[in-house]
Amino acid sequence: MNDTLNSAQSRRSLLGWIGATASFATLAACGSGRAEAKGFPKGMSENAWRKKLTSAEFRVLREEGTERPYSSQLNDEKRTGTFVCAGCGNPVYSSKTKFESGTGWPSFYAPINSGAVGTSRDFKLGYPRTEVHCADCGGHLGHIFSDGPKPTGKRHCINGVAMDFRAA
Ligand SMILES: [Zn+2]
Repeated sequence: MNDTLNSAQSRRSLLGWIGATASFATLAACGSGRAEAKGFPKGMSENAWRKKLTSAEFRVLREEGTERPYSSQLNDEKRTGTFVCAGCGNPVYSSKTKFESGTGWPSFYAPINSGAVGTSRDFKLGYPRTEVHCADCGGHLGHIFSDGPKPTGKRHCINGVAMDFRAA
């Protein structure tokens, strides 16, 4: 009886593992076509993005690159205002939730509203991280970590080149 149960359990966990591996492979295979495939409201072809964005913006927003720390003027931006996606102009972060993280990247403890950004799993460094992107165009913004300040405890570590600032 116990043997049967155990083998059923191990079969189930094996199937679960295969399922997880398969969905990871699917995610990885989607690569840069991800934004188009998901049909974001302001999604565009890779060629259209190349024409619209600077090469630095393209590398971060469309290829999930990371800018050098302390390279963006937005890291030191202290004025009241709104940070919008550099790809499509969607408001993504507010100066109200910006804090000095000491990392060299603009950091926020929350997005401007819950629908402004989306998240996905990222295994680029070999371990799972939470990737954050613009909900309107799918452009990669940065990552979310759980070592942020109150009230959320989250740290949205955002590439300055992926955003434009609009002073209030
Ligand atoms: Zn966008």
